[in-house]
Amino acid sequence: MVVDVALEPISMDGALFTKPVIMAGPCSAETEEQLLNTAIPLAEMGIKIFRAGIWKPRTRPNAFEGVGAVGLKWMQTVKRETGMMVATEVANVKHVYEALKSGVDIIWIGARTSANPFAVQDIADSLRGVNIPVMIKNPVNPDVDLWIGAIERINNAGIKQMAAIHRGFSSYEKTLYRNVPQWQIPIELRRRIPEMPIITDPSHICGNREFLFDISQKAMDLNFDGLIIETHCNPDKALSDANQQVTPDGLKQIIDRIVYRDPEVNEELMLTLAELRDQIDKLDDRIINLLEDRMGVSEKIGSYKKENNITILQTKRWDDMLKTRLNLGNRKGLSEEFIIKLFRSIHQESINHQTSVMNKE
Ligand code: PEP
Ligand code: MN
Repeated sequence: MVVDVALEPISMDGALFTKPVIMAGPCSAETEEQLLNTAIPLAEMGIKIFRAGIWKPRTRPNAFEGVGAVGLKWMQTVKRETGMMVATEVANVKHVYEALKSGVDIIWIGARTSANPFAVQDIADSLRGVNIPVMIKNPVNPDVDLWIGAIERINNAGIKQMAAIHRGFSSYEKTLYRNVPQWQIPIELRRRIPEMPIITDPSHICGNREFLFDISQKAMDLNFDGLIIETHCNPDKALSDANQQVTPDGLKQIIDRIVYRDPEVNEELMLTLAELRDQIDKLDDRIINLLEDRMGVSEKIGSYKKENNITILQTKRWDDMLKTRLNLGNRKGLSEEFIIKLFRSIHQESINHQTSVMNKE
């Protein structure tokens, strides 16, 4: 079950990569000034690794696709001015070549690239004989083997300083998150490659600033090894991922709030519990979405009743409904008392939604 991967700790200017490692910096490099205005306060806070995207993989054409190689010069300026290590995403051999030429300290493979074994293998081949830390984001699709495959390809090319970045997974369903965290997948990765550092990317999981702290705290509760958080001197004006970026001060507030708990004595127990809680969170998310859909239908019924002048409550319909729900619930092992309470409450909420539609001018 355990995958054989040869790893060495990531070296940071001779010092070891210490936990929790925090990587911060903008989604994209935009101007030299923007990089410096972001990097200087980060360095003052003690952040050691600066991230910025130079080439941006965008879902639709004509979005901001990154400044390209000129941004690497600005990264050198950041490195010189702040002493931070600089990290960027590479998606092909040309990117690797340009990044290495410009003295980038750490490269990462983005989620869209790690989903493509041909692309990962090309990058791996271009890294043979090179000594640079490489981080592998999870593929966009929730496939732990594909993630491990990408890690193995890079490791087989002789790269020993590695980390995995957990950035969540695409889904068609509307959820709270831009990319569903599916914590069971990084947990499974930890089981399969216990010595692989895992860094969580709350920014791309959340897609907004609101939940960054919760995701960060959760990653630390799982004893993961670090965080990569998009940080911009003027987030609202960012050319990419504006909603999810925070200012350096916003980042400091998140980091200062995180509680670092003692690693649990029994890690396996903790991971299993976290996995089960994650399932509960996802199911509750679905329940809320279903209720939202249900209220939407009630409102449509409300407008229809209004147009046709029918009363809201039709007792026969409610009696029939309750009967079928009780029957279904009984078959699924749900008590009569619970079904009655649950559907009374749902029904009441539906009536409230219908009433407000019917009374709207
Ligand atoms: C990024 O880190 O800016 C990025 C593009 O991330 P991902 O590959 O996770 O989408
Ligand atoms: Mn981004």
